[in-house]
Amino acid sequence: MSQLGEFDLIARYFKHPARRAVLGVGDDCALLQPRPGTQLAISCDMLVEGRHFLPTVDPFCLGHKALAVNLSDLAACGATPLAFTLALALPQVDEAWLGPFAQGLLALADAHGCELVGGDTTRGPLNICITVFGEVPVLNGRSQALLRSGARPGDDLYVSGTLGDAALALDVLFGRLSVPAAVLDAARLRLEKPSPRVALGQALRGIASAAIDVSDGLLGDLGHILQQSGVGATVEANIATSLIASKSYLASSGGQFEPQPAPADWHRWALAGGDDYELLFSAPPSARAEVAAAAQASQTPVTRIGQIEALPGLRLLDGQGELLSHRYPSFDHFR
Ligand code: ADP
Ligand code: MG
Repeated sequence: MSQLGEFDLIARYFKHPARRAVLGVGDDCALLQPRPGTQLAISCDMLVEGRHFLPTVDPFCLGHKALAVNLSDLAACGATPLAFTLALALPQVDEAWLGPFAQGLLALADAHGCELVGGDTTRGPLNICITVFGEVPVLNGRSQALLRSGARPGDDLYVSGTLGDAALALDVLFGRLSVPAAVLDAARLRLEKPSPRVALGQALRGIASAAIDVSDGLLGDLGHILQQSGVGATVEANIATSLIASKSYLASSGGQFEPQPAPADWHRWALAGGDDYELLFSAPPSARAEVAAAAQASQTPVTRIGQIEALPGLRLLDGQGELLSHRYPSFDHFR
């Protein structure tokens, strides 16, 4: 098989006629035309082999995840996806890898009407860097973007979907735990093929007072909202732990396997596990019906897990209302 060159590779896998963009792949710049009365929301996330994914991961899932983590940032901001760029370092041209990678990437892109408008391709250790562009309306001169800084004392605290299954899957893949195959399969999908909560983010515009996507662990990411909003919070650990889908699967499988995870493991997965890509957000109690309607409209379950308080710091309650003392720091690449 003849080796594809850089430009043939781009043309074969990443060049599509522009639809929403004014100009897509092929020139020195792409051109986007945000609609009047909107702001551009921009976010960039890099995936590095050995850091963010295992070398053995399925390339279709990797393409999906590379874009999903970026769309999750747009979701957290309440932005509508428009377009993205892809900077790719590849150790070699491996078409058996590039084909499914591009398919996974572009399938998710199509599902969100987010088109690939440019990028860069170079030889190097496998590294995938995507920048996404989205738009947020400005109403009466006010941006409708959801920020980390808007939480107020008295607000309810919610999280979407499920928590901790990706972290559980990672522990199983690293051999620290074993679970029935069906439980691992479901948890592994959460790790390798996360669903960015784009529709929920948009539905929460004008309702949520603050939002962030949970990528580094629930409590660590909550810490960013608390710090940037200048508030504190109380979180019900047992409610968070009940959102681990694998926990219900294990319970329904009759628990006929040993050893069962310890309560501390469930807490760690739900409260500090990374890679959930759920939305964590606050909203005033007066907006409970609107939050429920946004969840319904976006077909994304949300659960109230605590509340925002004026007293700084994070308080964690167990099922009996007792304070838990364990700390769950956010994931940090340099610690
Ligand atoms: P330049 O040298 O002007 O930066 P390149 O030769 O690197 O341009 O890229 C040629 C065109 O292909 C540009 O439009 C660029 O955005 C696009 N491109 C390069 N790599 C990718 C990629 N991985 N995915 C999508 N488009 C790409
Ligand atoms: Mg270039």
